Amino acid sequence: PTAHHHMGGVRINEDGQTSVENLFACGEVCGGVHGANRLGGNALADTQVFGRRAGFAAALACDLSEMQYNFTSVEAEKDRIESLMKEGSIDPIEMKKEIQQLMWEKVSIVRNEQNLKAALERLIEMKEELKDLNVDERTQFNESLLTALEVINMVEICILIVKSAILRRESRGAHFREDFPETNDELWKKSIVMGPNKIRFAKR
Ligand SMILES: Cc1cc2nc3c(=O)[nH]c(=O)nc-3n(C[C@H](O)[C@H](O)[C@H](O)COP(=O)(O)OP(=O)(O)OC[C@H]3O[C@@H](n4cnc5c(N)ncnc54)[C@H](O)[C@@H]3O)c2cc1C
Repeated sequence: PTAHHHMGGVRINEDGQTSVENLFACGEVCGGVHGANRLGGNALADTQVFGRRAGFAAALACDLSEMQYNFTSVEAEKDRIESLMKEGSIDPIEMKKEIQQLMWEKVSIVRNEQNLKAALERLIEMKEELKDLNVDERTQFNESLLTALEVINMVEICILIVKSAILRRESRGAHFREDFPETNDELWKKSIVMGPNKIRFAKR
């Protein structure tokens, strides 16, 4: 087996609009389009249909709104990236490999609470370890910086995936829990929507 599609992702409406104003998304980064499982071949149909819709909606939004540069957030992002370039004891490239291995072993095809909780525990430790990344100061071809930026996002996303998988105590579509092998429509016919500080459930 191979990992070839994620069912969860950014929440969008039918025009690819996300919860951030004027930010549109389409394709595999989005969740909800395929329900709990994706039929073979439908990922490419998804990219074409929602790519077109999101493209039109984004073009219309550009026509309707005036572009405003937010220098404060650009400077804040520049500072964040520059602050990563320092000596530390953790190699981001090794951390990326560890995240991939951990997610494959404990959060992939057959899931159970014990493995999911072990994965969550390690990911929370890793979130702390992100403060101690060893990143080169080169401004060109800086693989350790690119990987550091990736692992920061990977840890965050993996925590969301694992928390949702722990919460969903049933099996549905591509989410198979060997400790809860049945589908439970009464309790779980709904999507899990995670925000920065809260979790809510959306009826399907
Ligand atoms: C092995 C395998 C087999 C598959 N087989 C099929 C199939 O037979 N039929 C089917 O329908 N689907 C199939 N899929 C799924 C389908 O290919 C994907 O769902 C689809 O390609 C996703 O397209 P996308 O444009 O949303 O994302 P992607 O194709 O992943 O594109 C995202 C792009 O964003 C770029 N990117 C990432 N981060 C950044 C960044 N920070 N800045 C700038 N760029 C960035 C990436 O480099 C990439 O080019 C398969 C997938 C795999 C892995």
